[in-house]
Amino acid sequence: MQVWLNPRAISANEFINTFRQRLKDNYVQELNNNVVSNKLLTLYKELKLSFDFEPYLDKLFARNLRSCITKLRLCAHNLRIHTERYEHLDRNVRYCQVCTIHEIEDEFHVVFNCSLSNNLRQRYIKRYYTNRPSMYKPIELLNTQNKSELCMLSKYVTEAVKLRNSIIY
Ligand SMILES: [Zn+2]
Repeated sequence: MQVWLNPRAISANEFINTFRQRLKDNYVQELNNNVVSNKLLTLYKELKLSFDFEPYLDKLFARNLRSCITKLRLCAHNLRIHTERYEHLDRNVRYCQVCTIHEIEDEFHVVFNCSLSNNLRQRYIKRYYTNRPSMYKPIELLNTQNKSELCMLSKYVTEAVKLRNSIIY
C-alpha cells in the first residue's frame, strides 16, 4: 500500500476511506466463508446473496411476523432436517412425520409441499408460487419485497407450525 511507502503522497481522508473499505471487505469475506461452511444455514445460503439490509425487516411492522420470517430464513425451527442431526439420523431419511408424501421435513417441504398444510397454503400463499413449483419459486417467495406476500407468508408459517406442533407434541 502506497501509504506505507510514501505517507505524504496520500491524503488522510483517502487513507481512511480505503482502510474502512478494506475492513468491510474483509468482514464480508469472512462472513461469507462462515455462512458457506455452516451446515445449518442451508436455506440462508440460498437467500442471502449480498451483504445488505434485508427489506423484509422494514416491511413487517409486527414483531411476531418479522420474527417468524427471520427464524425461517435462519433455520431456527424444530423441523426434523435439523433436530435429527442431534440423533445422528441420516439426512436423507429425516422424513416429514405428519404427511405421507415421504419428503425430508425441511423448510421447503413445510412451506410448499406438506399436505397437512394444503388448506392453509391455499389461503395464504399466492397460486403463482404453488402452481408448478420450481426450485426458484421458494427463493423468490422468501426474498419477496411485497409487503402483502411477506405478511401472508408469515401468517402461513405461524399457523402451519402451530398445526404441526398440535399433531406431533
Ligand atoms: Zn409433510
